Amino acid sequence: MIDCRRPETVDELLEIIDTGKYRIFAGGTDLMVRKRQWQGAERRFEEDIVFIEQIDELKGITEDKEHYHIKTCTTHRNMEKSLVLPECIKLPYRLMGNPAIRNVATVGGNIVNAAQVADSLPLLYALDGKILLKSKNRSRILTVEDFIKGKYKTDIRENEFLHEVIIPKIDITGFRYKKVGSRKASILSKFSVVFLYGMKNDKLDYIRVSIGAVNELPVRNREAEERFVENRDVKEFLTAIRKEMEGTDDKRSTKLYREEVSLRIVEEYLSEILRGDSYE
Ligand SMILES: Cc1cc2nc3c(=O)[nH]c(=O)nc-3n(C[C@H](O)[C@H](O)[C@H](O)COP(=O)(O)OP(=O)(O)OC[C@H]3O[C@@H](n4cnc5c(N)ncnc54)[C@H](O)[C@@H]3O)c2cc1C
Repeated sequence: MIDCRRPETVDELLEIIDTGKYRIFAGGTDLMVRKRQWQGAERRFEEDIVFIEQIDELKGITEDKEHYHIKTCTTHRNMEKSLVLPECIKLPYRLMGNPAIRNVATVGGNIVNAAQVADSLPLLYALDGKILLKSKNRSRILTVEDFIKGKYKTDIRENEFLHEVIIPKIDITGFRYKKVGSRKASILSKFSVVFLYGMKNDKLDYIRVSIGAVNELPVRNREAEERFVENRDVKEFLTAIRKEMEGTDDKRSTKLYREEVSLRIVEEYLSEILRGDSYE
């Protein structure tokens, strides 16, 4: 028999996960697929369950001078409709799943599930996003990049849960986002590209490029980004990114397709900047 717990507060939740091995259940949109093993999904789980979606303290988006704070049970729908967040953060959430999924799927669930195709990961890599993890006796803050260890692998500990996502505010002059799948809704990304840039005194100040769902982890190369700002060499930038691509063919598409097309999209965005096209 599986034990199911339904705490009303964060303190109750921390007590529960401190005393036993519980599977945290937020929106359940990843877990339900795994539980039933539909479509041959492999990663069955059998642990006792603690539901967290009813905990009001774990919902909401706020901002201070330097950061956006997004509580873990904030849904994709809350993200896309937020009055606090800039469009570049809202857009990827608006394109995930379908309206029914977005109403229940949570921000934290997408991160902790750590799927290769998780669409929030390339965005959070590009924004240098961090997460606050809490257990009964301590809290720790990690970058999303340090937290994700591989496909379905994270650094989360047994008595810990993801409390909130923290996104540093930066001056963004323009952004582009492209998610490519076989159709528009309810589809796993073949790949996605997050592109941000900032200008200062009419000069390019930074670019950030993150490509999701090609490798097990999003591809981002900070050194190549800095070099591009110095030398504006599109070819050199693309070569540096290509070197990091190490995906494999799978049911979504071939490795070659994902790599070639994602790089062409990056090339187009970089060329637009060099031509001085402005966009937001
Ligand atoms: C039809 C369909 C379409 C989808 N489309 C997309 C898509 O386009 N893009 C995309 O990226 N994903 C998509 N998904 C996957 C899924 O909806 C997302 O990954 C979603 O964000 C998961 O959130 P959840 O709250 O449902 O997670 P859950 O299923 O509740 O949990 C997922 C994992 O995270 C853990 N977890 C959840 N919250 C916490 C926490 N606070 N602390 C610690 N561990 C936690 C759970 O234990 C579990 O291991 C789709 C799923 C379906 C069924």
